[in-house]
Amino acid sequence: MTVRTGQEFLAGLNDGREVWYDGKRVDNVTTFAPMAAAAHSTARLYDLQHEPRFRDILSVECPGLGQRIARPFEIPRTREQLRLKREAYLIWAEATCGMMGRSPDFLNAMVMALAAKQSFFAACAPARAEAIVNYYRHVATHDLYLTHALLDPQLDKGKPRHLQEDPNIPLRVVDRTADGLIVHGIKRIATSAPYADEILVWPFPPSFLPGEEAYANVFAIPMNTKGLKTLCRPSFAAVGGARGDHPLSSQFDELDATVVFDHVLVPWDRVFLHEDIHLLNRMYKDSRMREMTAHQTNSRLEAKLGFVYALILRMTEISGLAQKSDMMEMLGEAVACVEVIRNTTRSAEAQATVDPENGVMYPDLFALQAGRALGPIYYPKLVDMLKRVGGGGLIQLPVTLSEFSSPIGEVLEKSLRGAGVSGLDKAKIFKLAWDICGSAFGARHELYEMNYAGERGALLSGIQREYGRKQYYTDQLDRFLGGL
Ligand SMILES: Cc1cc2nc3c(=O)[nH]c(=O)nc-3n(C[C@H](O)[C@H](O)[C@H](O)COP(=O)(O)OP(=O)(O)OC[C@H]3O[C@@H](n4cnc5c(N)ncnc54)[C@H](O)[C@@H]3O)c2cc1C
Repeated sequence: MTVRTGQEFLAGLNDGREVWYDGKRVDNVTTFAPMAAAAHSTARLYDLQHEPRFRDILSVECPGLGQRIARPFEIPRTREQLRLKREAYLIWAEATCGMMGRSPDFLNAMVMALAAKQSFFAACAPARAEAIVNYYRHVATHDLYLTHALLDPQLDKGKPRHLQEDPNIPLRVVDRTADGLIVHGIKRIATSAPYADEILVWPFPPSFLPGEEAYANVFAIPMNTKGLKTLCRPSFAAVGGARGDHPLSSQFDELDATVVFDHVLVPWDRVFLHEDIHLLNRMYKDSRMREMTAHQTNSRLEAKLGFVYALILRMTEISGLAQKSDMMEMLGEAVACVEVIRNTTRSAEAQATVDPENGVMYPDLFALQAGRALGPIYYPKLVDMLKRVGGGGLIQLPVTLSEFSSPIGEVLEKSLRGAGVSGLDKAKIFKLAWDICGSAFGARHELYEMNYAGERGALLSGIQREYGRKQYYTDQLDRFLGGL
């Protein structure tokens, strides 16, 4: 195998998986309208790997694996390799306007990070370390697309898993056999699960208590594994009409899903950690996955914020407002948001350090964490700017752009034209803005940006707890106080 094409990716999805939508089993996820567009948009990302202008950034020869692999899989040992990773993340993110948060590079970077820290899994058992490394090799050499499911059903948040009214609901080990673990229960919000190749499961948040051992497991299995069911949320994919009517939701609605494990066998070679609450509570931090995944997620957010900024700017221009001082101020604030996120990755690369334990070059966590903390503030802020500049114009749009060539086209043209722009072209831009700030797709994106890096309170507390430059700054303070 080698880096895949879109066609190879799509062909792999016709594998008998059990995907449910609106109470019915989906026959073929690549043609079923509520999810087909996202699957095909993902396929286009795979195709980009073969475009000559991107090929050497999006993929790389890997002597260790004896073949060419997609860039996110490369274990970085130099700053230059980190830079190229960011370039690769940006190419994919820009191809989707930053609107596909769980494009394959996200989890591929995560699996790479887990394998690079195999020593962490060896603490569970040497066989678990071997399993994660072999799994990484498998995913990288087959260029697979993974989804992940971390969270249990919300249930009663005041109680641990084993003390819930029905402790069998959250996913847990119910048996061990010579072949592997038998797991049973539910996980939720696995984005892109209907059209991913495999699912990686590791429980989150890392706050496991004694008694919750059966729930503390990390493993990966193919999406067509017997007993695994994928239950989809309502699709926000705009079906039918011209692309310009729903420019983003017609292409990029990643479908989120609940995943149900009905006595599923997880072979031992796919078990990376099991029934160990102490290791599980350390995994998020000690596996150093965040350094690698946040490098991808901040790059993706950079592309998204840059796209929305450009749209706000264009809307001020076509509304004749670009030079008004309050709009200039607003745009200045948008630029600052883009630049802060843009510089988290570059700063993290500049301050990257090699971990002596495995020789891997890790981008600076604290620079990246700033992006994860500020993204949930910046994105809704930019969406609000779209609403501010668009005003009521966002709601008074034709049903479809084809109305411009209907008998009412002439009057539509008159009522919608803007500063130096035709009514049709202004409607296209405002429809794009609506997709971001008014549609169900847009609402999901705000929720995504606020939650994808974990519950915000826990994220911020973690940032403060782990902040590695705390001592440096408190020393400064103490020196100053001592000199008074
Ligand atoms: C669009 C979208 C896509 C996502 N994609 C994925 C994915 O692909 N894979 C994946 O694994 N996850 C995914 N997630 C899940 C995401 O990681 C979580 O939503 C996030 O971690 C927040 O967790 P939660 O939803 O359980 O909210 P909660 O943690 O339940 O938070 C909701 C509220 O409850 C409060 N709260 C919770 N517990 C307590 C408590 N004990 N005491 C007091 N207050 C409490 C919180 O402070 C918050 O205000 C996705 C989420 C969204 C919205």
